[in-house]
Amino acid sequence: MSHLLRRVQAVVFDLDDTLLDWSRQTDWLSNISGSHIQNVYDYLAENGNSLPTNDVLFQNYQEAIIHSWREAKKTWAGVNFESVLMCAFETSGLDVSKIDMGAVLLAYDWGTVPNVTLFDDTVPVLDSLRQQGYKIGLVTNSMMPMWMRDIELREYGILDYFDARITSGDTGHMKPHPAIYERVLDLLEVEAETAVFVGDRPANDIAGANAVGLTSVWMNPPHLSYELGDVIPDYEITTLQELLPILAALENR
Ligand SMILES: [Mg+2]
Repeated sequence: MSHLLRRVQAVVFDLDDTLLDWSRQTDWLSNISGSHIQNVYDYLAENGNSLPTNDVLFQNYQEAIIHSWREAKKTWAGVNFESVLMCAFETSGLDVSKIDMGAVLLAYDWGTVPNVTLFDDTVPVLDSLRQQGYKIGLVTNSMMPMWMRDIELREYGILDYFDARITSGDTGHMKPHPAIYERVLDLLEVEAETAVFVGDRPANDIAGANAVGLTSVWMNPPHLSYELGDVIPDYEITTLQELLPILAALENR
C-alpha cells in the first residue's frame, strides 16, 4: 500500500509505562532523584556557592516539585525542570543569577532509572512500525527537557526510531492539553485524523487524544490499575504488540 494512501500516517507514544516498563521500579521518582540532587549539590559547592545541607536542598527540591505540579495541573501547563531547580535554589538561599543553569542540568547527570526497562515487545513493535512506513512520535508529561530524556532513549537503543519527540517541560503544556498534541502533529506533519496515540493514563493520554481527534489506544498493562472514569478509549491493549493488528484493521476499514 502506498504510504500516501494510508489511513494512519503516524503513531505517537507516551513514554513511561507505555514504551518503558516501570513495573519493577516502585520507588517514588522523587527518591530516585536524590543521588542526582547530590550531584547538583556537589557542583554548586565546588563553584563557591554557600549552601545549606544537601538534605535541606533536597527537601526544598521536593517541595518545589509538588508545588509546581499542583499549580500546573490547574491549567495543564508544563512544569519546567529548570524552573523547579531555580525555585529550590532560591528557597535554599542561593543567588540564582550567579548560577549557570545549563551546567547544573549537566551536573544532574540524568540517565536510565534502575529496574526500568523496555517492554519485551517495544523494539519489535517500533521496528515493525518503521518497516511499514509509519511516522513515529513521542509525547511525555515530563518536566525535563527532551535532551535529558533522550539520554535514556539512547541508552535503551530506541532514540533513532522517533521522527518527533517532545516533553511537557519544553512545550509549556502537559497532556491532556490540546496544544501538546497539536505540537507533535505539526512536527510530524500529519493531521489528527490520520494519527494514533498510545498511552497508559486515561485522564491525561486518552482524554487529551480523544479531544484532539486522534485515534486513542489505551495501554493497560497488568501492573497498572488506572480507572477509565468517563474516558472512552477507541482501543485497549495490554501489550504493545496488540497495537499491530489494530493498525492493520484501521488500514482495511
Ligand atoms: Mg505514561
